[in-house]
Amino acid sequence: MTTDYYDLLGVSQNATAEEIKKAYRKKAVQYHPDKNPGDKSAEEKFKQIAHAYEVLGNPQKRATYDKVGSAAFDGGAGGGMGNFRGNFNFDGNNFSNPFDIFNEVFGGFGSQSGAGGPGNNRGNDLRYDLEISLDEAFSGAEKTLEYRRLVACPECAGSGSAKGSKPVMCHHCRGHGVINVNRGFFQVSQTCPHCHGTGKLNKNPCHACSGSGRSTSEHTIRIKIPAGVDDGTKLRSVGGGEGGISGGSAGDLYVVIHVKNDERQFQRDGAHLHSSADVSFAMLVLGGELEVKTIDGYGVLKIPAGTQPCTTFRLKGKGMPHMGVAYRGDHFVKVQCKIPTCLTKEQREKLEAFAQSCGETYKDQQKDGFFQRIFK
Ligand SMILES: [Zn+2]
Ligand SMILES: [Zn+2]
Repeated sequence: MTTDYYDLLGVSQNATAEEIKKAYRKKAVQYHPDKNPGDKSAEEKFKQIAHAYEVLGNPQKRATYDKVGSAAFDGGAGGGMGNFRGNFNFDGNNFSNPFDIFNEVFGGFGSQSGAGGPGNNRGNDLRYDLEISLDEAFSGAEKTLEYRRLVACPECAGSGSAKGSKPVMCHHCRGHGVINVNRGFFQVSQTCPHCHGTGKLNKNPCHACSGSGRSTSEHTIRIKIPAGVDDGTKLRSVGGGEGGISGGSAGDLYVVIHVKNDERQFQRDGAHLHSSADVSFAMLVLGGELEVKTIDGYGVLKIPAGTQPCTTFRLKGKGMPHMGVAYRGDHFVKVQCKIPTCLTKEQREKLEAFAQSCGETYKDQQKDGFFQRIFK
């Protein structure tokens, strides 16, 4: 059974690397298991696409594929795309599973801590984007996260082999993972196409996981978000990522915090908060006390007589907490002069009298139909 990888990605044989990557990205989004929960055929299709991209996205493998077809990549005896064995730690790159390629293309965390390379069986790290409110960032919170991840297949305990059998040394490369090929006068080393560089052949793959050693499962964890987290803070849950292969340790889960815009229009600058408050003309002139909202209640601004508009006041220690420290930033409030738009007759007369006492004269705009200011 052979598979046309170009057909799978929907590109022509002459497609550029960029076109292949683009086509893969589009298809991967369409068939990603997170988008099609419980849909086995979509998951299968996603694996096929990922596998096709693993080959066509790599110039060397693509050249081999163009020459000899998919037989070199389809996984040998078991054949077919459902058989996903042999693709792990392929060539020592990071494409240890289809989700990993997805991470690579979409800028996820991918395999860190030196994953890739023969013998590295650690599971991949995962990323979870979590949106919280400013109040939750202030006081800290506990959240339950639910997500899907690859874990060791319960049937074969992650070995990928059916009960009673285990992978045998690849006789094509004698377990080295590379073979030498004669090219004219030269001998060239290349990844063994039979074991895909792993040095082992899985003669009797596990039925449940088709030899991959892993299966997808729902995972629920509860995490504590510390007070003071900011937009972009990354929290790590050790072992919350994908399960390792063949007994390898699990990857980690990274929770990336996104703090929502605040309804009270509080702007955050590290541990400091900024907001503005409307103050009457009279209070700015005469002075007074003004109650303003803060992140955890109210604060009182003492406005001195003769305060100019746009003056900023500081409420010390009324800002956000610093993460892990018992210390809070400040809350800065900028006062804005609120100009009344309609006055009663009495208010108007008094304001005119005030203006006159300052040496200004106002004509009544209601009588004249326009507003005129005369300097004496
Ligand atoms: Zn299994
Ligand atoms: Zn081999």
